[in-house]
Amino acid sequence: MSLLEVRNLQVRVEDREILHGLSLIVNRGEVHAIMGPNGSGKSTLSHVIAGKPGYEVTGGEILFKGEDLLEMDPNERAAKGVFLAFQYPVEIPGVITMNFLRTAYNAQRKARGESELMAPEFLKKVREVAKNLSIPQDMLKRGVNVGFSGGEKKRNEILQMALFEPSLCILDEMDSGLDIDALRIAADGVNALRSPDRAMVVITHYQRLLNYIVPDFVHVMSKGKVVKSGGKELALELEASGYAQFEDAA
Ligand code: ADP
Ligand code: MG
Ligand code: MG
Repeated sequence: MSLLEVRNLQVRVEDREILHGLSLIVNRGEVHAIMGPNGSGKSTLSHVIAGKPGYEVTGGEILFKGEDLLEMDPNERAAKGVFLAFQYPVEIPGVITMNFLRTAYNAQRKARGESELMAPEFLKKVREVAKNLSIPQDMLKRGVNVGFSGGEKKRNEILQMALFEPSLCILDEMDSGLDIDALRIAADGVNALRSPDRAMVVITHYQRLLNYIVPDFVHVMSKGKVVKSGGKELALELEASGYAQFEDAA
């Protein structure tokens, strides 16, 4: 059974169809890159998988571990192992990162029918995970993303990802706003989480990120559809030839 199966997905936003019959199969252990020009529907796809409100699915289906994902609310999806790292992580002034992480972590445990972790136990766990990802401990004491650099925000997302141990990680343009050093650190964090049980969907506009997170498969989206799929060499072809060649195919 595939981890994720998106079949002929059609999605509308405010009465406009954005995804026009998109299909995608992702197995455990695989890293898929989704590339495509701005406005091709990459973020829409990631939002619909995660269950963000405001999207109307008018056709097709999404199966996750063989179950109907579209029937689940966003918390259930997260508890089942879906994690979406946002393109623009939100700042939450007044909420300490450590407390935010514990609340989110325990909400997931609860949704899975597991008992909550008490503060000392959680602290130990989060410190361990942060250490493995070379994330400075003082970041945990600051307000969520408040005054964080682009790179720190990404590391915070990766820390959450590592804590939640999802089976499917979706990274939406994690390279946007990062300089090359921050990009490398964030990519190292993602690579450290690659495992045979886990799949990653890496959404990016640029080929650059894929030098650091090397995908097994590359899909090109244009105008709300996957118009071409291939191996990692497809990203290099795109870098050379651009997206314009796909405009007519869509
Ligand atoms: P990408 O991530 O590939 O840049 P998006 O999924 O963000 O593409 O957007 C795809 C299309 O859907 C764009 O034309 C965008 O303007 C439109 N769109 C996305 N979200 C909304 C929304 N909330 N309201 C109206 N249009 C939207
Ligand atoms: Mg965009
Ligand atoms: Mg986007």
